[in-house]
Amino acid sequence: MNWEQLPNGKWRPQKKPIAPGKIDPDSPDYERRVRAGLKKKWVYCEDCKAKYNLADPCIHHLTDSPRDRKKYEIYKKARKEKAMSVETTRQGRL
Ligand SMILES: [Zn+2]
Repeated sequence: MNWEQLPNGKWRPQKKPIAPGKIDPDSPDYERRVRAGLKKKWVYCEDCKAKYNLADPCIHHLTDSPRDRKKYEIYKKARKEKAMSVETTRQGRL
C-alpha cells in the first residue's frame, strides 16, 4: 500500500485513482452524486403497475439502507393505522 503525507504531517493510505465515470467515495458529495445517478434509473414494478426510480424505490423494492428501512417502518405503521380506522368505521356503523 502506498502512503501519502497530508499537509498536517499525518500519513494516510494513498487513494487509488478514480476510474473515469466512477464517483470518488471520499468526495463530500458522494452520496448526492450516487443518488443523482440512481434518479435516472427507472424500473417497472409489477405490484405497483408503475415505474419507480432507484433513488426513491417503491415499497416493494426498498433496500437495506437505514433510510429505506425507516420508510418501510412508516409504511407498516400507516397500513396498521388504516386497517384500524376501517375497523372503527365498521364498528361505528353497527
Ligand atoms: Zn412496487
